[in-house]
Amino acid sequence: MFCPRCRLSETRKKAVPGEGSARSIVMLVGEGPGRNEDIEGRPFVGQAGKFLDTLLTEAGITRDEVFICNVVRCRPPKNRDPLPDEVDTCTPYLNRQIALIKPKVIVSLGKHSTAYVFSKAKLTFDSITKARGKLHRTRLWGMQMTIFPTFHPAAALYNVEYKNQLVEDFRLLGKELAMIDIAAR
Ligand code: URA
Repeated sequence: MFCPRCRLSETRKKAVPGEGSARSIVMLVGEGPGRNEDIEGRPFVGQAGKFLDTLLTEAGITRDEVFICNVVRCRPPKNRDPLPDEVDTCTPYLNRQIALIKPKVIVSLGKHSTAYVFSKAKLTFDSITKARGKLHRTRLWGMQMTIFPTFHPAAALYNVEYKNQLVEDFRLLGKELAMIDIAAR
């Protein structure tokens, strides 16, 4: 993918389109690639990614069973926050992925991702602390979906309280997925 549509394309090494199962019922949406992701062209391969793998285990799932992507596909220089026009330019890719994969649950990782997904669902976003750990039942692009916000896994690398809450949230995610699985049988 060689998208030239915004200034992030001038400084990125590799775009990170996202990866995983296109038939997944769960989609995880992060903020944007960091240094390691920019080198490898894959999402969540650095330290936060290793912790994300542990969290998926807490939910009883593996990486191959989910689809992982980001709000922006190219690394913002020095890991700064993506700018509003970069988000506007890049998110048609995310929107299309959601429309194609049709996940039952979107796990939004951190405040940027949650703010974006909430805005699409016309839900009010106050703060990640308020929104996290709750199952927000909504409609997106005409499909029934549950948005499940939690902290960004990188936050857990320096704050043990966030780490514990992430573990708690992913256990709840596991229970929700089990319910969906039972309902589908
Ligand atoms: N942080 C993110 O938000 N996404 C990645 O892919 C890696 C780190």
